[in-house]
Amino acid sequence: MKKKVLEDLHVSGKKVLVRVDFNVPIKDGSITDDNRIIQALPTIKFLIEEDAKVILFSHLGRIKTEEDKKTNSLEVVSKRLAELLDMEVTFVPVTRGEKLEKAINKMKPKDIVMVENTRFEDLDGKKESKNDPELGEYWASLGDVFVNDAFGTAHRSHASNVGIASRLETAAGYLMEKEIRYIGSTVENPEKPFVAILGGAKVSDKIGVIENLLKISDKVLIGGGMAYTFMKSLGYNIGDSIVENDKLDLAKSLIEKAKGKLILPVDLVVADEFSEDANFRVIKYKDIKPYETGMDIGPKTVKQFKKHLKGAKTVVWNGPVGVFEFENFAKGTKAVCEILANMKNAKTIIGGGDSAAAAIQMGYRDDFTHISTGGGASLQFLEGKELPGIESIDDSVDCGCDDSNCDC
Ligand code: AMP
Repeated sequence: MKKKVLEDLHVSGKKVLVRVDFNVPIKDGSITDDNRIIQALPTIKFLIEEDAKVILFSHLGRIKTEEDKKTNSLEVVSKRLAELLDMEVTFVPVTRGEKLEKAINKMKPKDIVMVENTRFEDLDGKKESKNDPELGEYWASLGDVFVNDAFGTAHRSHASNVGIASRLETAAGYLMEKEIRYIGSTVENPEKPFVAILGGAKVSDKIGVIENLLKISDKVLIGGGMAYTFMKSLGYNIGDSIVENDKLDLAKSLIEKAKGKLILPVDLVVADEFSEDANFRVIKYKDIKPYETGMDIGPKTVKQFKKHLKGAKTVVWNGPVGVFEFENFAKGTKAVCEILANMKNAKTIIGGGDSAAAAIQMGYRDDFTHISTGGGASLQFLEGKELPGIESIDDSVDCGCDDSNCDC
């Protein structure tokens, strides 16, 4: 179902509540990566250009004690936003009450107000995280329309996304729209051949994703730590590699169900211990010694992955294929980035989390069709599940005309 987007709303002069994902990393009071703020700028700029009064909501970290409030205030984020926009942003250090209401009532078109961390409401009965009806009602009463641009929390039903959305006219912001267009529509109706690459530490984190991708894709290439549970389930030695012994039966049944679609590494980079400067060597997958740990896919596996990816029209990748945080074991993940970056005729999508971080860190930020901003949310999307934050956005009204570029 198509969702309402920014252009479907009339926002001029209106109080527009916007849920953004400003959950940025902060160290010693300074933001260490402002990518999430940058990603929200197109939506905010559009609303400003359209003369809206923009009221921003976001969470930041987890709030369990009064002490957590001190280190998780959005004030520092509002300052960074003001710098990036080169505009004034009024920060309101509360999540409700007279101070907030006064600040909103004073707003003129093009003004921006940033409300304090929505999770401050969690200290008293988890009101934000449990989608408390009174809180959703109160926040919705502060505005005229709602824009949800926080894909990172779309898999959660919170007061600041679902709570507001169920009470006001709601559209997706540009970032949310992009995630729906690339991940949502790929899962719904992928252009074939469709190849998935899955890595990361564990099978158990991604069972639903593997099952769904096996259904809808032509090949699933497996790398990373999760490969060893699959390999052990086939009876191979895996030395001292990471493994989930309680998932061996599941891994075996996935391989059987896959009927040749699931591709495992044929060679490995193994180390004599799990550390940055461990001794390492490249081996055939069967030659691992009992004390060795599998750290990365080897060059033959890279070649094989490349062969399977040739001619693909859609590629989805989730999870690094090796311990990319250590330079000696980052080559496989870098090679996957390089292969995908050169697939100019394919839709290449990174489904968030560590593989997104790895690709950006390795200099491939602009070489994919889409790098998702959500970790848990994109995994749930890839599982083919509905995301409450997206479901609660209004469906767009079908005008009934046949023109795919229609603007009626
Ligand atoms: P995930 O969050 O599930 O995508 O897992 C990402 C983590 O998997 C990264 O921190 C990688 O270092 C880790 N990882 C990838 N390959 C391996 C491996 N062979 N052994 C252990 N951990 C791995």
